[in-house]
Amino acid sequence: MQYPENIVRMIVWEVTRSCNLNCVHCRAASHLGPYPGELSTEKCLRLIDDITSVSQPVIILTGGEPLLRPDIFEIAAYGTRKGLRMVMATNGTLVDKAIVRKMIESGIRRVSISIDGKDAQSHDVFRGEAGAFDGAMRGIEAMKSVGMEFQINTTITTANLHQIKDIHDLALKIGAAAHHIFLLVPTGRGKDLAEQAITAADYEETLLWFYQESLTCEIQLKATCAPHYFRIMHQNKTKGAQPAKKAGWNSENGFVWKSSKRFLTGILSLASRRFFVAIFCMIESFLPPSAAAPGNR
Ligand code: SF4
Repeated sequence: MQYPENIVRMIVWEVTRSCNLNCVHCRAASHLGPYPGELSTEKCLRLIDDITSVSQPVIILTGGEPLLRPDIFEIAAYGTRKGLRMVMATNGTLVDKAIVRKMIESGIRRVSISIDGKDAQSHDVFRGEAGAFDGAMRGIEAMKSVGMEFQINTTITTANLHQIKDIHDLALKIGAAAHHIFLLVPTGRGKDLAEQAITAADYEETLLWFYQESLTCEIQLKATCAPHYFRIMHQNKTKGAQPAKKAGWNSENGFVWKSSKRFLTGILSLASRRFFVAIFCMIESFLPPSAAAPGNR
């Protein structure tokens, strides 16, 4: 099927708001739940049908913690059968070899795990649970042993800014395929961390370092929630300079965030916007009136 140019190319889908961690910056302000009004398996599959009727985006299954959904591999496998590149964002603490095998069987192509500190002490404070760092590392070891590609995601605040190079070195050392940094968006529980957003000067310095690193680094580097990264890239580009490994493109166009309930955000072409207004209305029609609640992550 031919799709219009600039149609949505990536959907970040909060399949649940439930989570076993309590991260201080959590956009979804997640707890263990359960949260009423989340989409049933059947409705998730129909949503994939509707998405594939107009586009073939990458789908990031996220949450909350997506592995808390018992039907997560059914959803992933269905998306795979429909020709979508299915990937997953998890905190890693529930990942073992058996889970990785299910990921592979359902066609999940890459998994991101968030690491926000260079060691257990700093990561666990951020993640709100003792053992979160060791759990994430065990999950990474399981992925490596079964052969699943993984990347590291890091949210930067004033609390871990001084560790960012160590975290990056850790990502390289453990064999990540990519390191994506996220600049704190003070929403959800992150609202209480607004004072931990780094200064404009630190943004500039960090993003410049990240860009320069991307020119030689052997893994993909990408900055998210940092649109000024593109300005820094353009301002500092020297003739012929290219990232050693090309990263994705979701900071420009065709990016949608689908929360565990009804909220959609993103950067969309007009055609995509029309389509997602239609999808949005469909999701709303699935929901009981009581289900109107924020799904920020
Ligand atoms: S940020 Fe992710 S891992 Fe942390 S509480 Fe929120 S959903 Fe869970």
